[in-house]
Amino acid sequence: MEPKERIEELKKILTDAGIAYYVNDNPIMEDYEYDKLMTELLSLEEKYPEYKTIDSPTNKIGGEVLSKFEKVTHEIKMMSLSDAFSYDELIDFDRKVKDVAPNATYLCEMKIDGLSVSLKYENGVLVRGATRGNGSVGENITHNVKTIKSIPLKLNKNIDIEVRGEIFMPKASFIELNREREENEEELFANCRNAAAGSVRQLDSRIAAKRNLDCFLYYNMDPTVKTQEGALLSMKDLGLKINTNYKHAQTIDEIIEYIDSIGKIRDELPYDIDGIVIKVNEIDLHSIIGETVKYPKWAIAYKFPPEEVKTKLIDIIYQVGRTGVITPVGVFKPVFVQGSLISKATLHNEDYIKMKDIHVNDNVIIHKAGDVIPEVVGPVLDDRGNDIIEFKMIDTCPCCGAKLQRIDGEADYYCTNPYCKEKLVNGLIHFASKPAYDIDSLGEKVVKDLYELGYIKDIPSIFNLRGSYSELIKIPGYGEKSIDKLLEAIEKSKENNLDRLLFGLGIRHVGGKVSKLLSKRFGSMNAIINASFDDIANIPDCGDVIAKSVFDYMHNDDNLNMISTLQELGLNMKYNQGDIKVNYFTNKKCVLTGTLSSMGRTEAKALIEASGGSLSESVSKKTDILILGENPGSKYDKAKALGIYIMEEAEFLEKIK
Ligand code: NAD
Repeated sequence: MEPKERIEELKKILTDAGIAYYVNDNPIMEDYEYDKLMTELLSLEEKYPEYKTIDSPTNKIGGEVLSKFEKVTHEIKMMSLSDAFSYDELIDFDRKVKDVAPNATYLCEMKIDGLSVSLKYENGVLVRGATRGNGSVGENITHNVKTIKSIPLKLNKNIDIEVRGEIFMPKASFIELNREREENEEELFANCRNAAAGSVRQLDSRIAAKRNLDCFLYYNMDPTVKTQEGALLSMKDLGLKINTNYKHAQTIDEIIEYIDSIGKIRDELPYDIDGIVIKVNEIDLHSIIGETVKYPKWAIAYKFPPEEVKTKLIDIIYQVGRTGVITPVGVFKPVFVQGSLISKATLHNEDYIKMKDIHVNDNVIIHKAGDVIPEVVGPVLDDRGNDIIEFKMIDTCPCCGAKLQRIDGEADYYCTNPYCKEKLVNGLIHFASKPAYDIDSLGEKVVKDLYELGYIKDIPSIFNLRGSYSELIKIPGYGEKSIDKLLEAIEKSKENNLDRLLFGLGIRHVGGKVSKLLSKRFGSMNAIINASFDDIANIPDCGDVIAKSVFDYMHNDDNLNMISTLQELGLNMKYNQGDIKVNYFTNKKCVLTGTLSSMGRTEAKALIEASGGSLSESVSKKTDILILGENPGSKYDKAKALGIYIMEEAEFLEKIK
């Protein structure tokens, strides 16, 4: 590719990634990849300055300033830092510094992975907290900053001062927050940095207050301080929190030694760091060394390579999914990867394990894909001993012993026994789950308990539970009140629309969207049963694979008997399009971005659909409303660009009533 074209391409990729990261707190690529692409763009622009334009991301600090916040102008620009990925680059940095300031020494500090903040104190009282924004203009986040316990509202001295530092979320709080979000079926935060940024850039300070944020200060704008170390210590005297784990280094060797030592304990630190910042310690040398539009030349950030951790693969176990799919899962000697303890990770399927040449007893490298899901990079061949056990995919179901089948053209093996316990239980959990038949009070634990005790064995038995009432209320841990509630929820669910029932049945390739398409097209279960293969395949977005799966399911006697039992038990078998609650959302095409604090996506979707509107995944010219949740994604920018009406959560709640 020609340099000009590559520059244009890189500018586009980096601009998009920057918006996702800085504006939406929702990254679309790994930081390390972003940094590498940025370095490539910088060097191309240096080589071909004629192709460098003012809108290049290499000229920009941070992202846009969100309009929902009051703007704050920084009297002294909040700069970014230039990156180094190798010790050679640090040696080069040292050489350039020493060329103009031969007596310079360095202060090495941990590079905390959070977001930078400026704090302004007047007469010792905190009057303003602001984000870096685009370096010149930031967002006023005073209301949120005041909720952070380690940021004093009043200093030990009644002075006017601006200090700067990093707000971060400790690893333990991040793990807990994501655990809660998972439980509430909310989107997970990618990492500590995004969680911190997403918490601080909120209008409602109750959210930040709950998130257990912390802050280390590292810049002191007091003009009387002489060194960076002195700046840190004087902030400490003022009652501000600093990270005391720094090192004053005289030589490049001492810098490297410090980086190595911190790299070794990085996993054990209670907060995430992504590198080491090296700053010229003598502040009077800073103006001599100078700066570019974006970076000071007297400091540099050494970036750690993406965290990959070595551990031993102890075993490969198998999970049976609700469709019968068998997933091999690696069991590891537990290890911390970017703030979470990992002991298991999916190994996907036989082909994947063979392709990666993974054996039990291998040492393997694990990293987090997209920073959240642990993934096995591959085995460490140099460590391989004689005790490795060659992987051989099982040929019988680990639960019921039935022979497994690998379907042509698919990488997965399936248990085809319709009575396989694990498959059945997972199928029942799916049936009752929120996105499917949505039976309140019938969660995973209740399904498992009632299955083990023999009260639930298949879908129809859920609707026969009332017959065992006197026994159910005697189950330890349940009691009259909870059983009444459960039975009431089951009874109420019978009115559910047809698409929920179809999705709940767990027909292969039939998710929520296809269930709705089928229900809308045929209107009743009977019509679906009688539909021809072509009738189904001709529905836009369906196609042959789905059609075959639905057709086969509806021509299996056991399935037909079950459906007819469900009908006898009083479950609604028709698609109800008419019963809409006419309101603002009727006939409106909506898209939701981010997370709503008052409800999950499924509930929002149900409410919109009950109003005769629709909720789709992506923004297009046809979208009428973008509903804006917490931590919006790139849909927000697209909607803004297309001039689509953006609706905040409060308005949504008001209008959907
Ligand atoms: P940076 O994070 O590389 O470095 C500058 C920042 O480091 C400062 O603004 C400050 O907030 C922080 N910092 C932490 N500890 C510090 C300390 N002790 N002293 C001084 N500063 C300290 O630069 P940036 O411009 O903030 O952002 C670039 C970063 O954002 C890169 O790491 C990049 O990977 C990431 N990013 C990622 C994506 C993506 O798509 N994944 C997109 C854009 C940016």
